[in-house]
Amino acid sequence: MNRAEPVLSPAPAAAFAPPAERSAVVDLAAVRHNVRRLRGLAAPARLMAVVKADAYGHGAVPVARAVLEAGADALGVAHVGEALELRAAGITAPVLAWLHTVDTDFRAALAQDVEIGVSGWELTPVAEAARALGVTARVHLKIDTGLGRNGATEQQWPRLVAAAAEAEAAGLVRVVGIFTHLAVADDPARPETGEQLARLRAAVDAARAAGLRPALRHAANSPGLLSAAGRERPDEMVLDMVRVGVSLYGLSPFPDRTPEDLDLVPAMTLRTTVNAVKEVPAGQGVSYGLNYVTDRPTTLALVPLGYADGVPRVGTGGPVRINGRTYPEVGRVAMDQIVVDLGAPGLSAPEHGLLGAEAVLFGAGQNPSATEWADAAGTINYEIVTRVSPRVPRLYVDGPGEGGQRPAEHADGEPA
Ligand SMILES: *Cc1c(COP(=O)(O)O)cnc(C)c1O
Repeated sequence: MNRAEPVLSPAPAAAFAPPAERSAVVDLAAVRHNVRRLRGLAAPARLMAVVKADAYGHGAVPVARAVLEAGADALGVAHVGEALELRAAGITAPVLAWLHTVDTDFRAALAQDVEIGVSGWELTPVAEAARALGVTARVHLKIDTGLGRNGATEQQWPRLVAAAAEAEAAGLVRVVGIFTHLAVADDPARPETGEQLARLRAAVDAARAAGLRPALRHAANSPGLLSAAGRERPDEMVLDMVRVGVSLYGLSPFPDRTPEDLDLVPAMTLRTTVNAVKEVPAGQGVSYGLNYVTDRPTTLALVPLGYADGVPRVGTGGPVRINGRTYPEVGRVAMDQIVVDLGAPGLSAPEHGLLGAEAVLFGAGQNPSATEWADAAGTINYEIVTRVSPRVPRLYVDGPGEGGQRPAEHADGEPA
């Protein structure tokens, strides 16, 4: 396996990168492993890697390069601005953006060959932008099959496909895809997913009847793809392309399945070092509100990551791994720091090596998981990684490093 020196982003490649006081370490080898795993599940369908929201906090440009290297066919983002950021970095792969406002710069998008998701009103400004530039816009029409967010309603659909066929005849657009987004794919037993897929099939039939020839029908997100094999007709879920996000980053979209169950490897490790260790008596209140009070003499470790870094303020009790043991965070999460009760007095002595010890909030392997922090905070793992703030530098590595954060069987790349 190639193991590159860690590189601080967005600083230019330097011969020496100083260790960051706190960092979100992103293992691009794990991302590539996940892409290969998901491609295997999707084949022969194409794989669109969803890198919106700065690749769920992992860094859009480095992640986009890694997923393409590992065989992703296309990139997906919410906003045109996110697509343009990828183009500005020199990424030429197909990119689809699907969430627009009346202020969206469709001309800039088309000038950079960005494909546009069209739910309705966008068709007119997209066609106008295409006419102005003298290009043909590649669009994916979106149908709302039940999620109740963007996408044309079934009632609006016939008019949208008719207008799209007209714009296609005029050479202004080409409808390359038709898609929908699933509402409850993370609970494979629910019947609504099958109903959504049936509505998508009807929408494709109507589009074909209107003269469109969409080559790419797509619906599956991560839970859709990862549960497709359990369906009566997996092909009706996988269709021609899947759009996967959270699973690229090695996180499970299912409450009852771990990344290991799914053969995925978490890519992000949120870590810092213990910046103070102190002895306190019984009865010591900890952090704002004094909600936690020690019940015996003990040692506290201070960990300099707080809500300004993206640790949820409501995440009291979330896990922190220090020197091979996992402790619950105690007291309120503050802006800059959290506190861990090490559970025994005397641990501030230098021989315990706690000052400066690595403190990991979540990561792969033996480390606590983003899902445990999500449980502590009453949210989902998607939010935990996405909300890691710009104050935390992203540090890119290629492989788990000396600490062996990943099981050995994942350490070597499979054939791409
Ligand atoms: C975010 C998003 C995805 C990816 O969903 P995951 O559950 O992260 O795989 C796919 N499609 C659309 C339209 C999205 O907004």
